[in-house]
Amino acid sequence: MTKNKPHILRTTIIFISCFLLVCCSNIEHDISIDNGKIVLSFNKNTGALVEFRDLINPYIFSDKNLPAFSPWEVEIHDSSGIQTIDIEDASKFRYWIPNDSTLILEWKKFQGLTNKNFRIAAIVSLDEPNQMSSWRISLDGIKGMQVNKVAFPRIKIIESEGDEFLAVPEWMGQVIKDPRAHLSKMKGEVKKFEWSYPGPLSMQCAALYTPGKRGFYASCNDTLAYRKNLAFTLDSAGNLIYQLNNFPALESGSVKYEPSYSAIIGSFTGDWITAAEIYRDWGSKQKWSRESRFIKNQTPEWLEKTSLWVWNRGRSSNVIVPAADLQKRLGLPVSVFWHWWHGCSYDDGFPEYIPPREGKESFISAMNNASKKGINAIVYMNQALWGTTTGSWKIEGAEKFAAKDSKGNILSHVFNIFSNRPTAYMCMATQFWKDKYSSLCDSAINTYKANGVYMDMACLNTMCFDKSHGHPVGGGNYHIQHFGKMTGLIRSKITDKQNIVLAGEGAGEVWLPYLDLFLTLAVSKERYAGPGAWETIPFFQAVYHQYAITYGNYSSLLVPPYDELWPKEFAPKEPLKMLDDHFNRQFLMEQARSFTWGLQPTIANYQSFLAKERTAEIKYLTDIAKVRYQGLQYMLHGKFLRTPGFNIPQKEFDISRLSIYAGKMGESVTSFRGIFPLIYTGTWQSENKNIGIAVASISDDPFVVKFSFKSDEYVLPPSGSIYVIDSDERRYIGSYSKGIISVDYTLNPRGICIIEIISDKSLN
Ligand SMILES: [Zn+2]
Repeated sequence: MTKNKPHILRTTIIFISCFLLVCCSNIEHDISIDNGKIVLSFNKNTGALVEFRDLINPYIFSDKNLPAFSPWEVEIHDSSGIQTIDIEDASKFRYWIPNDSTLILEWKKFQGLTNKNFRIAAIVSLDEPNQMSSWRISLDGIKGMQVNKVAFPRIKIIESEGDEFLAVPEWMGQVIKDPRAHLSKMKGEVKKFEWSYPGPLSMQCAALYTPGKRGFYASCNDTLAYRKNLAFTLDSAGNLIYQLNNFPALESGSVKYEPSYSAIIGSFTGDWITAAEIYRDWGSKQKWSRESRFIKNQTPEWLEKTSLWVWNRGRSSNVIVPAADLQKRLGLPVSVFWHWWHGCSYDDGFPEYIPPREGKESFISAMNNASKKGINAIVYMNQALWGTTTGSWKIEGAEKFAAKDSKGNILSHVFNIFSNRPTAYMCMATQFWKDKYSSLCDSAINTYKANGVYMDMACLNTMCFDKSHGHPVGGGNYHIQHFGKMTGLIRSKITDKQNIVLAGEGAGEVWLPYLDLFLTLAVSKERYAGPGAWETIPFFQAVYHQYAITYGNYSSLLVPPYDELWPKEFAPKEPLKMLDDHFNRQFLMEQARSFTWGLQPTIANYQSFLAKERTAEIKYLTDIAKVRYQGLQYMLHGKFLRTPGFNIPQKEFDISRLSIYAGKMGESVTSFRGIFPLIYTGTWQSENKNIGIAVASISDDPFVVKFSFKSDEYVLPPSGSIYVIDSDERRYIGSYSKGIISVDYTLNPRGICIIEIISDKSLN
């Protein structure tokens, strides 16, 4: 022992020295806040973010091995031109720690800026005892400068072991496996995914996770819907950089930019459903949820009772007549989603919708006949676009009121690949456009007896830089404010207020108080987007199902149609041609997703002969409508819950990639094969806390639905009953007790059901 003493001592001294060095290094260079759940550290001399770590789980997002990283980047346009600055451009940095959970960082004296008073301050806090942090920024002394973009916060996330997923609520929602690998394959120097909010991002959040290993959660608590982008960029070392790009809309002469909201950065364990639950905790308490038209009973009764939508195009004989046929077969209310009713050619002749192409009398007569049969129809009108080759564009002087980019050019796009005629984006903040569009709605509803309007491209947000329009230029939140004013104007002209539906393309939390219905087409994404790495998930429904009615499906058994007003040379030789029956399973898959994920079912391009030619597929559709209709407390009003786990088989099958544009000019693949699940599920909690588990099989074989879970995990009492709803009836299949629910139910080939778990105290 004695012999070893010097060695032990020397080891101890080395150990202590190392410990002191690490401590001194921290004292010298790092400032940290931690709440026992997460720790955030910044360089004491520069304010660079050096560490983001979970203290409960061994999750490391950023560590000290990474090079110094600026938590913000600001793009400025001043007298010296456009430049991007970060912490390296600041000559002075200081900080305060006002309390254990708050850190204030300040950078000033920027080199290369003419404005010497310019300074940037950030407040990072861990207010709540959870794994979330809150980030605020302010820019002072900006007089005379144009601040184009403020990227804050920026977090560098190192690679982790295991399968990584990135989930984002792009309208309905999507998830990609191994985002770094997909980004690395991108051409060009910048390898980036970026989405804007409000708009393509229906909610202000994203989650990057490796199940069971690590979860990075990013969101924002902006209740006023300011324009912002969420982005993930891959750097050359394989790190992912998350950043929130804020787009100020500043009045000239402003001296300060300080967003009214915080960015939220946190750590979690789980998957996209866990992230949706975290976000729902916040989102369901916001004004747009309290004031959603659905939750306030402002949505018409006929909309809530719609069992199925028929999405057809053209004259009433091709729209109302097939819908009436399907309603008769189904025996439940069918509603109509009507494109190409209008006088102008689709996607280039807008907004010359009126009179309808079949003539005023014929159209009104068709609407009256539909009404007698209890069929309601909403008509297509794009709420953004004006064809720049139309006569009305010149006569009405629309150019002045179109949205402009930062160089003063009109924002325009060619959507119509057959005519190649462009359309311009109109500025929602101009009274001219609000008056024009609302007067069109007035005609469609009051004169032509439509039961509502589908406002195409509604859940988008256009940035306009035209100073003559009177709104702050660029970012900001004027678009959504004026959208609210426009729907108010439309509704002010409607006498039968309780009966009219305003529907919008996509989905978006900030539109909940303005729209009755949201089109979430991504259940059929393969038809218009082709094969891709992003998989559709019901992210929006997981957060807002009980606040928003969603519908829509490109699901078709026919080749998509061609507008009779488009150039004749591209018209198909066989209109109403059947799709090959190899694609029938794709049709079933789209209907199964739509049903189990809480949408109102929709069939596109329905014709009565399909009931004979595609009997099994039409029966599947009508069975879905019948099963769903018996469980509206779940499928229309329910709150999303995680489905109890069981194994789901997969199969490779044919996918058609044909839309009204996709695959029509020989420019791309029109079919491919993909591997997809054969069973689709969705679990929904009714207002009285019963559970409905929707299951839809697209398998040719019977499938045993077998699972077991604890009642308290689903806020169910320890004993109760289990029922099954199928297309024929609702029947009792057993009971449960002692807090354990076990289900063992054999679903027929292509079977559809809702498994109900209910409390014995329930009136059911
Ligand atoms: Zn404008």
